[in-house]
Amino acid sequence: MTSNYCCKELEQHLREKEVGIVYDRTSRWYGIKILDGGSSSQTIHYCPWCGTKLPKDLSDELGKIVFEELELDGFDDPRLPEEFKSDEWWKKRGF
Ligand SMILES: [Zn+2]
Repeated sequence: MTSNYCCKELEQHLREKEVGIVYDRTSRWYGIKILDGGSSSQTIHYCPWCGTKLPKDLSDELGKIVFEELELDGFDDPRLPEEFKSDEWWKKRGF
């Protein structure tokens, strides 16, 4: 099985959730939690463990498809296709 991540450390920390690193597979976004008691995070562009440049964050592309192409009201719109609730949409489109 091939890993979706650049290294075992990143994969392990995302799984164990003991380090404040977060990954949103729907928008392919990586971040580090801000320790202010809230749920905000800071975007990161490189893996903190191996230094590999992380794949491009697709939040803008996702927003464009959902709002402009599909003309939906947002991510809570009940018409949102299932593929946009996971990494399926960007894998299918070859991002
Ligand atoms: Zn890494």
